Amino acid sequence: MKPIPTPYYLLDERRLLRNLRIIRRVRERSGAKSVLALKCFSTWCVFDLMRQYMDGTTSSGVYEARLGYEKFGGETHAYSVSYTRADIRDVRRYADKIIFNSLSQLRTLAPEARGCQLGVRVNPGFSYSHFDLADPARQNSRLGVRDGQALRAAASLIRGVMFHFNCENDDFANFSANLDRLGREYGDLLAQLEWVSLGGGLFFTKAGYPVDAFCAKLKAFSQQFGVQVYLEPGEAAITGAAELVTTVLDVVHNATDVAIVDASTEAHMLDVLTYRMNTRLVGRPEGAHKIIIAGRSCLAGDVFGQYSLRSRLKTGQVVRFGDAAGYTMVKKNWFNGMPMPAIAVRRLNGKLELVRQFGYKDFVESLS
Ligand SMILES: *Cc1c(COP(=O)(O)O)cnc(C)c1O
Repeated sequence: MKPIPTPYYLLDERRLLRNLRIIRRVRERSGAKSVLALKCFSTWCVFDLMRQYMDGTTSSGVYEARLGYEKFGGETHAYSVSYTRADIRDVRRYADKIIFNSLSQLRTLAPEARGCQLGVRVNPGFSYSHFDLADPARQNSRLGVRDGQALRAAASLIRGVMFHFNCENDDFANFSANLDRLGREYGDLLAQLEWVSLGGGLFFTKAGYPVDAFCAKLKAFSQQFGVQVYLEPGEAAITGAAELVTTVLDVVHNATDVAIVDASTEAHMLDVLTYRMNTRLVGRPEGAHKIIIAGRSCLAGDVFGQYSLRSRLKTGQVVRFGDAAGYTMVKKNWFNGMPMPAIAVRRLNGKLELVRQFGYKDFVESLS
């Protein structure tokens, strides 16, 4: 097969499998089910593999719920920060659980949600996050019910609750203490319910995470309150499983070398800008050559990162950025009318498959 033209996202099923095996181990040892958070990753060409290890999907809106139902299967959880009445009529065809963000939405829309189990999101008032932008318990947060009394008064309308209060939490001691706190503060409510989702943001697939202690903790919590525990991994499910593969188009100099690649942070790896991270380079050893690698959009700050590399980058060389699965493909956009990276997969058997390419037609049809 001839090489795939850059730019493209490259998913690697063997790397994905490493995470999926941990997810299955958590399921087996703790009883906690895992549903994939589609807002993080919706690239459905690898769902045949993922569904063998996970229980289903959870969503942030109607289209994701439908995608989960049609492309993943299993359990379909539907959450949204706010639903319209029409959304509920639509989403109830796909979802088995509908989770409301507020008690007003629950009361108004419950009659429309016939046939689904209902739940609400609770904001426990504490969280773990390095970024205010992504902190669900930030000041004046709109995410979830704060009023414990009103929540208990509505308990007969719901079968479960969802707490999503972590963001990239790799600190098990912190999670463990916070789970104890949830038990102390909401245990009476949980004992009346059938299920509790602990949301996403837990980095239990990270190397070195104490997975067995995590399982024991989840199992004890589930048994203490008689509830089915769910996890909603997004990043933890796909971490390390994709790269954005690009080519250097030019190297310019302004006090330092700046390599320009045929992709863009703004359009193809937006979180790099939002959270001001340095993108991880794959296969480029460190050394003495300082270089900035930047995108080719017209945005002045379209920068993938600053690096010190063993060898200079030259026009025509390939640059691979790691961690390109979560919150990347779901956010790609047509800024500057730049060619959209294709999607390729390296399957478990080692075969490279070009799954989708985008062209001018996709660009023009997304605009009018
Ligand atoms: C974002 C989100 C997730 C997934 O979070 P990750 O950090 O990707 O694991 C899960 N549940 C809810 C409600 C979310 O908003």
